[in-house]
Amino acid sequence: MRTLQIFAVTVAISVISSSGAFAQSRTVAITVDDAPYAGGPYPHDEYIRNSGRAKSDNAKLLHAFQAHQVPVTAFVVQGNVELLGPDGTAILKNWIKHGFDLGNHTYSHPDINNLSIDQIEDEIMRGESGIAPLMQEAGRTTRFFRFPMDHTGDTKAKHDALAAFLAQHGYRSALCTIDSSDYIFNSAYVKMLAKKDAPSQERLRHDYLAYTSVEIDYYAGLNKQVFGYEPPEVMVLHDNRLNAEMIDQVLAIFEQKNYKFVSLETAQSDPAYQTADTDVTRFGPMWGYRWARERGVKVNGSLETEPPKWISDYAKPFSQDSE
Ligand SMILES: [Zn+2]
Repeated sequence: MRTLQIFAVTVAISVISSSGAFAQSRTVAITVDDAPYAGGPYPHDEYIRNSGRAKSDNAKLLHAFQAHQVPVTAFVVQGNVELLGPDGTAILKNWIKHGFDLGNHTYSHPDINNLSIDQIEDEIMRGESGIAPLMQEAGRTTRFFRFPMDHTGDTKAKHDALAAFLAQHGYRSALCTIDSSDYIFNSAYVKMLAKKDAPSQERLRHDYLAYTSVEIDYYAGLNKQVFGYEPPEVMVLHDNRLNAEMIDQVLAIFEQKNYKFVSLETAQSDPAYQTADTDVTRFGPMWGYRWARERGVKVNGSLETEPPKWISDYAKPFSQDSE
């Protein structure tokens, strides 16, 4: 009995020390796309009428990011800023005032698979027309660009031309390694709110956190398989109603898994992020899948869990525009 007790204590100590090792090394950068507000599947006129909601939801996000000391980069869709009018700019100024970074996410969030190289370059330039002066006023520069839907060029010519264009304009492409399909959960959630379907709201909030946890573990495992160590992760979230309510708990999941929050710049300074980028795809896979192809590592994407079917069904018809 006594031997058993000693054995149990030894096991407990070794578990603690191995999770302690994780605490030193696991890092994640949090990014928030479609700022100043992704809203939901609203028609645009209703979206404009909800600028009060956009302001209060952004205030909730900023409060949580400050409380958890998260150096966030928000990726701005300039067209959404203009739809919200002066409130759109006021929201962005608030992000900057609190020390957060803004990145370029195009003017109108198009699917670049459907655009010519010239049209995409125009989207990128118009995408920075609002944020570049705001950042400059604060003595900062806009350094990151993120492709809508993570589509990075469906032909080699497009992919390579855009990579060169971004570099010429001082941009780094913002990569992302973990996605929780939060935009699908949000689409379902705003419908539930409109229908005053409280039991489904409760169930969705629970399932969203559970799925987020599953996806964090899945992608951490995938990236470790590709590199042999856990590189810094980059989490992609969206500026929406659901995250305004849940962000505190989403951040707590990372904390429980011993992640330390770092800036996007710090995350992308890891050698993993210097991996060659020659992958041409019309889809928007997380970067672990792209890195696996670049490095010739065989991974099995079918092991990834899909969002719960009842959520996807509730969200239908779902528009990719809200991604
Ligand atoms: Zn987006």
